[in-house]
Amino acid sequence: NSGTVKGWPTGLPRSLDYPEVPVGELLRGASQRFGERIAIRHGTDVLTYSSLWQRSCAFARALADHGVGSGQTVTLHLPNCLEYAIAYYGVMLAGATFCPANPLLPKAPLSKQLSDAGTVAVVTHAGAITPVESVLGEPEVGEAVRLVVMVGGEPGPGQVAFDSCAPSDSPASEPPAVDIDVRRDLAHISYTGGTTGLSKGVELTHRNVVCNVLQYVAWNHGAVPATGESDVVTVDQVGSETDWPVRLGNGVLINLTPWFHAMGCIGSLTVPLVAGVTVILHDRFDPATYLADAERWRVTSMSGAPAMFAALLAEPDIGKRDLGSVRALSSGGGPLPHEHIRLLSERLPGVVVCEGYGLTEATMGVASNPTARSSTQKLGTVGVPVFDTEVRLMDPSTGRECGQGEAGEVQVRGPQVMVGYRNRPEENAESLVDGWLRTGDMGKFDSDGYLMIVDRLKDMLIYKGYNVYPREIEELLIAHPSVRAAAVVGRPNASVGEFPVAFVVPAGHIDVDKVTAHVNAQLLPYKRIREVVVVDQIPVSAAGKVLKRDLRDQLR
Ligand code: AMP
Repeated sequence: NSGTVKGWPTGLPRSLDYPEVPVGELLRGASQRFGERIAIRHGTDVLTYSSLWQRSCAFARALADHGVGSGQTVTLHLPNCLEYAIAYYGVMLAGATFCPANPLLPKAPLSKQLSDAGTVAVVTHAGAITPVESVLGEPEVGEAVRLVVMVGGEPGPGQVAFDSCAPSDSPASEPPAVDIDVRRDLAHISYTGGTTGLSKGVELTHRNVVCNVLQYVAWNHGAVPATGESDVVTVDQVGSETDWPVRLGNGVLINLTPWFHAMGCIGSLTVPLVAGVTVILHDRFDPATYLADAERWRVTSMSGAPAMFAALLAEPDIGKRDLGSVRALSSGGGPLPHEHIRLLSERLPGVVVCEGYGLTEATMGVASNPTARSSTQKLGTVGVPVFDTEVRLMDPSTGRECGQGEAGEVQVRGPQVMVGYRNRPEENAESLVDGWLRTGDMGKFDSDGYLMIVDRLKDMLIYKGYNVYPREIEELLIAHPSVRAAAVVGRPNASVGEFPVAFVVPAGHIDVDKVTAHVNAQLLPYKRIREVVVVDQIPVSAAGKVLKRDLRDQLR
């Protein structure tokens, strides 16, 4: 029952009944329900739900014809595009394992990833073939890969054209018959950790993915999967129109997060396509084009990382566009500064600004603010744990559970938590304890049970034995009108341990001494900024995460 949890979406139960189906079946259900509706729009190209299903079935059969199926890994080395969606669902329907790779990955990490994942087939594109061919020239990787599928351009010798596997006029047909054990067979191997160190392969079963997708379909659209024995997912809606700003089968989502990252893959490739939403794709992030498209396509939802929303706020066109169709805005992947929440709510009146929290190790999502238009939103928090998901906070030094209001390491238990990291028994023993996932993030609950992310444990610095969380300083910097963006890291120092250094992107003219004095006046002495570096931009990853390691390197 949802009655006791403040902020729980109206009418939804605390627990969902997840069908025991593989991921590909979610698309079958959506294609039956939403048929000729546009699933994805990319420039002038569109893909309907029916054609996405038909071409995905064709791609699955092409994989099977090349002997690719159960227990084998297919790497998608592509930017977001229509073919990506077809290939993703094709891999799912073939019973193979999807392994996304950033298409800009340099040769060495790409090679490591392909060999760790045991990749047998690669789907790539004309613009990236050089690093792929050079990796395939290495005996260890090359001998294992038996199929290279090329999107766009002419396929080279031994390569297959994507359009010959999944032609645009693919007739209605069935995927190959495959046996999938949803609780054991891997749907995804997602590499993560690129911003903090060596990349690790997160293993997710079909069950993990289906649960997290349905958790968010229900959370965002007020729809719960029907219970019963049916092997096709059906959905029933609860609540009234006003409770659910974006109903099933009628939303338009403008998306920028890359599908090779958890937030993109679950948040904009699976959740919306199970919910009947139309997804608008862009080749690259240009704030002016983004806003023009949001107006043109009468977009109802925007999703992305905080760095993207910061860029939209800095774009002069934001005040000129008619964005009255936008109902919900979701941010995740990093902290959304309080000042930006305030500005977004001001620029887009009536929009529900919803921040959520998650990580690749939990498929994507763990906690979220209610997306429904409701007075129970708590801005500045990441909301409450979603369906069937428990969060506990543990004191990292004593290993004891924290008391009310105390900060501790966020640990998560739920059906979306990974099986483990691939080939890494030591990291698994450290990260998964009695079914609880240690996230490495520090969090706090408020008195209503809303979770606040204090900072990443790894980003905390220690000044004369005191813990300093950079996020607190960053929030104060960003709230200053002369600052557009800021990131704080520690500079090692023999006498104090580490002291805070602020990297600041000015908004016009900046008087550094004045800003520093203003911020430091609001901080306890041990947290105060000792050094400011003015920069043109803060480095962020393709998924919009601040690359603190790069900033620490700059200080060396
Ligand atoms: P990834 O696995 O790449 O999605 O990264 C997950 C990490 O992003 C988490 O462990 C957090 O450190 C961070 N993160 C995600 N969402 C938030 C949020 N709303 N606030 C603060 N940090 C976040």
